[in-house]
Amino acid sequence: MKMNESTFNIIKAQAVRLAGMQTSLYHKKFEGLDLNAMQSQQDFEKLPFTDKADLRDCYPLGLAAVPMRDVVRIHSSSGTTGVPVIIPYTKKDVDDWAIQFKRCYEIAGITPEDRIQITPGYGLWTAGIGFQLGAELLGATAIPMGPGNTEKQLQFMQDMGSTVLCATSSYALLLCEEIAKRGIADKICLKKGVIGSERWGEKMRARIRDGLGIELYDIYGLTEIYGPGIGINCSYNTGIHVFDDFCYYEIIDPNTGETLPDGQMGELVITTLQKEGAPLIRFRTHDLTRLIPGQCPCGRSYPRIDAIMGRSDDLFKVKGVNMFPAQVEEVLRSVTYAGSEYRIEIDHIGGRDHMTVFFETNAPKTDYEAIEKVIQTHFKSRIGLTPDVRAVEVGALPRSEKKTRRVFDNR
Ligand code: ZN
Repeated sequence: MKMNESTFNIIKAQAVRLAGMQTSLYHKKFEGLDLNAMQSQQDFEKLPFTDKADLRDCYPLGLAAVPMRDVVRIHSSSGTTGVPVIIPYTKKDVDDWAIQFKRCYEIAGITPEDRIQITPGYGLWTAGIGFQLGAELLGATAIPMGPGNTEKQLQFMQDMGSTVLCATSSYALLLCEEIAKRGIADKICLKKGVIGSERWGEKMRARIRDGLGIELYDIYGLTEIYGPGIGINCSYNTGIHVFDDFCYYEIIDPNTGETLPDGQMGELVITTLQKEGAPLIRFRTHDLTRLIPGQCPCGRSYPRIDAIMGRSDDLFKVKGVNMFPAQVEEVLRSVTYAGSEYRIEIDHIGGRDHMTVFFETNAPKTDYEAIEKVIQTHFKSRIGLTPDVRAVEVGALPRSEKKTRRVFDNR
C-alpha cells in the first residue's frame, strides 16, 4: 500500500520517540539505526519487525509507552507458551477502539435503532467489551450476554427483540440449529450477524445465513492492535475494509520479509498510528491475506484486505511459488469426486522441487486418471504450478486424533 506523507511523518516521529525511550522494546530493537535519516516508505520497509515473542518478553508491563497513571485498562492475549501478552490502553486508546468499532457497525448498516446481542466473552481478552463500546458509541442498544447459556440467549433474543447477533461462527451455527430445533424462527427478529473473523468455510456461512435468514459480516481484529473491530466487510462483500487513519497495513513475504505489492498473498503486518499505551511498529500478525487493489463499489476509501486465508506458519514454497493448505483445499473442493482428505509430499529430486498431492476419492479406479488430470489443470490455473496428482481410495490416507498433518516437506 502506498504510504502517504502524513502517515510517514507520524510513523517516523513515533519510531524516533520510542527508540529514545529507555523502557521501550524499540530502544533495543532500533539500536544503531539512524531513524532521523529515514526519508521514504522504502526506508520504513527496512525497519525490523515486531513479533509476538517481543511482546511476551515485555511481560508484565514492559509494553507501556506511557506512565502507568495514564493507563486506564489492560487486556491480555494468551500465548501458546503460557506467558501472556499484556496490552496497556490509555483513555484515548479505548475511545479510538470504540470509534473504529462504531464504524464497523455503520459499514454493516447497523443503526441506533438496532438491538445488538453480544455473545463473545467479557474479561481479560478484547472480545465482548469491544462489541459493547462500539454499540454504545453508535447509540444502539447493547445486550451484553457473554458466551454460553443457550436457553437464556434464545429467551432474550425473543424478549428483547435482538436485531443483530455478534458471535463466533461456531456459536452462531449452534444458535441457528437450536432455533430450528425449537421451531421459534418466527419469533426471532435478527437481521444481521457480526461474526469474528476466524477462518470459516463457505458451507458454514451458507448454513448460518440461510438458517437465520440474516446478512453476515466478518469483523477483523487482534488484541495486540486494539482488538476486534479494526475492519469489516461492507454489503458488497469485496473484502474487509480497514481503517488507515488508525493503522498502516502492509503485506510481506513471510519467508523473506520483503514487502509485497498490492494484490499478492502474504502475511499482514500492522503499524499503529495513534496508539499511546502500546504503540507497535511493523507487528507481524501471521495472518495470511492480501491487500485488494482498486476501489470498492461502496465508495468508501478505506483500503481492503481479503478474508483471512490461514496462518503464515502454514505456508510452504515449491518452485518459487508460495502456497498454503487452504489453497490446496480450495482446488480439491472445486472438483467433484475429490474428498476432503489429502496429503502433500514435497521432495527435491535431481536439483528440482517435486510436489505430489495425494487425495481420496470414491470414484471407480478406471476414472482415477481423468480426475487426476482435471485437478492438475486446476492447480496450474489457480496456483500457477502443476504437481503430480495421485488418487487413492477413501480411508487410504492416515488420520490422526489431533490436527492431521497434511504437508510433508522432505527437502
Ligand atoms: Zn465497500
